[in-house]
Amino acid sequence: MKNNARNLPSIDKIINSPEIKNISNLYQRDLIRNICREVIDEERKKALEGLQILDTSEIIMEIINRLSETDKLSLQPIINATGVLIHTNVGRSPLSKDAATAMFEISSHYNSLEFDLETGERGHRDYHIEKILKKLIGVEASTVVCNNAASMILILSSLGYGKEVIISRGELIEIGGGFRIPDIMKLSGATLIEVGTTNKTYINDYESQINEKTALILCLHQSNFKIIGFTHSPSFEDLVKLGGKYNIPVIYDLGSGALFDPKTFGITDEPYVQDLIKKGFDIVCFSGDKLIGGPQCGIIIGKEKLIKIIRKHPFARALRVDKSILAGLEVTLRHYLKGEHFQKIPVLQMINTSQNDIEKRVILWQKLLNKDGIITEVIDTFSTIGGGTTPSQKLPSKGLSLDPKQDIFMNNFDCHLITKKLRNFKVPVITRIEQEKVIFDARTVFPDEDEILLSAIKSLKD
Ligand SMILES: *Cc1c(COP(=O)(O)O)cnc(C)c1O
Repeated sequence: MKNNARNLPSIDKIINSPEIKNISNLYQRDLIRNICREVIDEERKKALEGLQILDTSEIIMEIINRLSETDKLSLQPIINATGVLIHTNVGRSPLSKDAATAMFEISSHYNSLEFDLETGERGHRDYHIEKILKKLIGVEASTVVCNNAASMILILSSLGYGKEVIISRGELIEIGGGFRIPDIMKLSGATLIEVGTTNKTYINDYESQINEKTALILCLHQSNFKIIGFTHSPSFEDLVKLGGKYNIPVIYDLGSGALFDPKTFGITDEPYVQDLIKKGFDIVCFSGDKLIGGPQCGIIIGKEKLIKIIRKHPFARALRVDKSILAGLEVTLRHYLKGEHFQKIPVLQMINTSQNDIEKRVILWQKLLNKDGIITEVIDTFSTIGGGTTPSQKLPSKGLSLDPKQDIFMNNFDCHLITKKLRNFKVPVITRIEQEKVIFDARTVFPDEDEILLSAIKSLKD
């Protein structure tokens, strides 16, 4: 065994080998040396454990492989055939081409981020977005932070610190990733006053808890679950009226924050931004990268006197967004202003695509795969919006169902092998498994990805 370890080549010998010398101009010297050391150390360890080790030429091959791995980007585009429109794991909403271009342009140049071009003096980065939101929603003021969880932290810290915040028990939710409303409340220095019960909360429950220490009434959209059956919560109108009566701001954390009426698509129970502002909420906050279809951020809108307080809090500085986010958000919001959001913003295009149009594409997929001897079935399926939106609502869709048990795959494939192979394709493809079949929902596949998707499926035969 010792002999075995002693037979390992030295780092210098490897570095001076013709194969490594050949590629030495492609990589940093230190990187080559570190990877050589890493591989030789691993082999030495194996030798000491009495395991089979690689010979010198195999070691060189392994080093070359690992060097080329370092060229591969870790964050890469994928094809989403799951039918879930907004999912955090795959980057939530893809941006419109115009928004992505603006992010590139602005971030690769100096820009007017905090520079007032009229006066030549210092400006505020909130200005660019506020200008559009005033036109779009008729709201007094706005600010943008790095995500909507940050919106909550900032609102509660700036308006609730040292005071009481009233919230319904039915809305004490965990947003995801362990981010729980009661914890944020504690962090913000606000005292949580829970009212009502999990399923029923009345306006009197809120009113009975109001005193001189009350800072806010907080409402949260129950975006990732739904309580059905024996339930009650006060109307928006009653909540706003109650806040007005005692001069207490009423806040709504909307989560997904549609800027259009979701009822148009049969999505009920999803309040939307314009409606909440019209109904009189003092502050509304929502994510930029859920149903808005923009970059990751948290958008806080509402009464100017409150936004001014929020903006002055030190956390506002800590949670602010960078130029590229604001560039992407500005262009995204302009799509709404121009009334072209359903044409330009990918998630809205996807929502707006009819089952008929989806079916046409899926039938074409089926035909083209059939030519290659791959048998599939066109099925009825459901897409989900996801992203903490409308937990119980689904969009009727069409998909392609692939049975792993077929002659062309020698009858020795299963769903997990197929999904693994698809994930490892040069452009990774992700899918759904249902009843021992692999399902491809066309709604979330961009039409210009069809060709790659089909070559991924065809490559299963290789
Ligand atoms: C998604 C969501 C959040 C968190 O927003 P992020 O942008 O993911 O930080 C907060 N509140 C509600 C109700 C949500 O649905």
